[in-house]
Amino acid sequence: MKQIALNYHLTAKCNMRCAGCFAHFNECNTEKLTLANCQKVLKTIHEGVRHIPDRKLNFAGGEPTLIPFLDDLCQLARNFGFSTSLITNGSLLTERRIQKYAHLFDWIGISIDSLQPLTLERLGRTINNKPIPADSYLKYCRWIREAGVRLKINTMVNRLNCKEKLLPFIEMAAPSRWKVFQFLTISGENGHIANNLKISSQEYQCFLQNNRYEYMVPECDEDMKSSYLMIAPNGALFDNSEGKLAYSRPLWQVTWKEALNEIRFSYKKFRKRGGCYEWKLKR
Ligand code: SF4
Repeated sequence: MKQIALNYHLTAKCNMRCAGCFAHFNECNTEKLTLANCQKVLKTIHEGVRHIPDRKLNFAGGEPTLIPFLDDLCQLARNFGFSTSLITNGSLLTERRIQKYAHLFDWIGISIDSLQPLTLERLGRTINNKPIPADSYLKYCRWIREAGVRLKINTMVNRLNCKEKLLPFIEMAAPSRWKVFQFLTISGENGHIANNLKISSQEYQCFLQNNRYEYMVPECDEDMKSSYLMIAPNGALFDNSEGKLAYSRPLWQVTWKEALNEIRFSYKKFRKRGGCYEWKLKR
């Protein structure tokens, strides 16, 4: 194993209320979110994967930019030798903040599911019921590129946006990676709304055909199962292989190896979905 990527979902807190969100972490106790505990989790991860030459840690949420000690944690991850990335809903990005992040992150990803205000409202991808306008999203993307950080865009294709043509916007935003996910039902998280959002594989393929982009990375619902190494806000590894989130014991209580044995992860599926790529930013 030469490369490994991990996703640390630092918090369940978010300033948006997306209908399809799988990251409420309803069944895990997320109260122990302190810098000291997160540092312990990072240290355990580091000890568990330090033998793998090329390691990436992605900070996600909830909304990770709400966490006041995000920068400290990211710096610690870099000190441990991880390449680092951030996935955000974009709402709290400013040019100044992105310039500060330029020293901390190799990649910044923004979740953009639609550019249609009505669709964004119906998806709950709003701040105080107001969607982020397309020109603001474009501005964030430009700031990220100008700061010398690689730009990623994540899109979740579902019943409400599957007919949308995002390609002209994507070509202007010019991400180095556009991850296009098919909506995945996770019971206990988005299961109650799944009938309104799930789409068939034909509908998903249709979206891909209508939006072909050089750096598009498609991931259908089956590709996503067991192919991510994910850490929950309570410090536990978790997996989604059975259509719900299943947790290990927290990484501040057990070793990396013990926690890994308590979840399902397939390195083969991780590779197959394109999880290994050149992620280190040459500075
Ligand atoms: S922005 Fe992300 S974390 Fe927040 S509610 Fe939407 S999908 Fe969930």
